Amino acid sequence: MARIVQKYGGTSVGSPERILNVARRIKKYRDQGNEMIVVVSAMGGETDRLLSLASQLNESPDEREIDMLLATGEQQSVALMAMALHGLGCPAISMTGAQAGIETDGVHSRARIRNITPHRIEDSLADQKVVIVAGFQGRTEEDAITTLGRGGSDLTAVALAAVLKADLCQIFTDVEGVFTADPRIVPEARKIDVISTDEMLEMASLGAKVMQSRSIEFAKKFGVVLEVRSSLTDTPGTIITEESDDMEDVVVRGVSADKNEAKLTVRHIPDTPGQAAKLFQMLAEASVNVDMIIQNVSEHQLADISCTVPQAELKKIQTQLETRIREATGAEDILYDENIAKVSVVGVGMRSHSGVAASTFKALADHGINIEMISTSEIKISCVLPLERADDAVRILHQTFKLGETTRET
Ligand code: ADP
Ligand code: ASP
Ligand code: MG
Repeated sequence: MARIVQKYGGTSVGSPERILNVARRIKKYRDQGNEMIVVVSAMGGETDRLLSLASQLNESPDEREIDMLLATGEQQSVALMAMALHGLGCPAISMTGAQAGIETDGVHSRARIRNITPHRIEDSLADQKVVIVAGFQGRTEEDAITTLGRGGSDLTAVALAAVLKADLCQIFTDVEGVFTADPRIVPEARKIDVISTDEMLEMASLGAKVMQSRSIEFAKKFGVVLEVRSSLTDTPGTIITEESDDMEDVVVRGVSADKNEAKLTVRHIPDTPGQAAKLFQMLAEASVNVDMIIQNVSEHQLADISCTVPQAELKKIQTQLETRIREATGAEDILYDENIAKVSVVGVGMRSHSGVAASTFKALADHGINIEMISTSEIKISCVLPLERADDAVRILHQTFKLGETTRET
């Protein structure tokens, strides 16, 4: 008998037929004698639908109320899943995040899990029930409902697997695993059999939405091994695990694109010590996550500083910070560009192989793609480029590093 945590994403529970299909799969595992804890997302599109409803009523809705609203999406699907299991004669009970004992901090819409007290889950497992937990949500000490950031059901699953000491944590989704690039953009992308947590973390934070990046941070911290696989087939998926020696043999593991960033350029700041500090202090105080940064010193002792920020933060910067930034730094102008994307190549093999940057820049140049910003770490190279060339860039780099070829893997 094993203790198994499974997570089913929005598409996998997107219709009554799909819910029933998933319920049959869960029952099969339970009938084999396993203890089953199942995390479920809202039905596909439901979270976006709720967000759109909210925005029709208020331009900037209160974040507490947003969480109250969004949590209902997952609450619907857990109840429906429990009913489907009951219909198959399988004992099951649904729980909200709060009932499952998931306690978070109070940062609405991207709360962090602080503590999990899973005694209700344990009691129901002891009663031979399948436990269905609403993904993406928790509660604060003061009993407010919180959510864990988009894609947060992945995090619920990983956190429960860690605290319940599960033997297996399986993430069921609408593709057969983690691919060398988004298979919707690159049809010849290949499923990766095993990927290191560091590579998955980079790919996820650089745009591969197949796994929420925070869930991978959590998996790394608590040593949770994950399998990402399809809810529609029985094909084995991708194992995400700690790095092994032979992983460095593959130089580039995958290519990701992030289309949700924007470029902010603060123009003509006096080129004196302390100006950058003031600018980034103000952004930090407003909780704006800054990623790449470049500074160009132009003539007349003036500098331009550009950085990338999440598109979702632009409005806040424009309305709350722009004037203050100008006044504090003496900047002449602030420009915004949403028509950019960040395309990245990722692989632990880059640590021990040279030339990846050169090949990346040459491939993009050969296709007339202009690179606006560059950043690197020891296992990734990211380029900011025009949004309309992002998909091309992903395909070009996928081909440059021969990621579609099965013989590449050692
Ligand atoms: P779920 O609803 O199951 O959580 P998501 O939509 O969040 O599913 O994630 C799955 C999607 O991630 C896939 O349909 C695919 O288009 C996209 N994706 C992006 N990059 C990758 C990648 N490298 N490998 C696999 N899927 C990817
Ligand atoms: N329903 C939430 C979302 O769409 C959480 C999830 O699916 O993991 O982001
Ligand atoms: Mg997801």
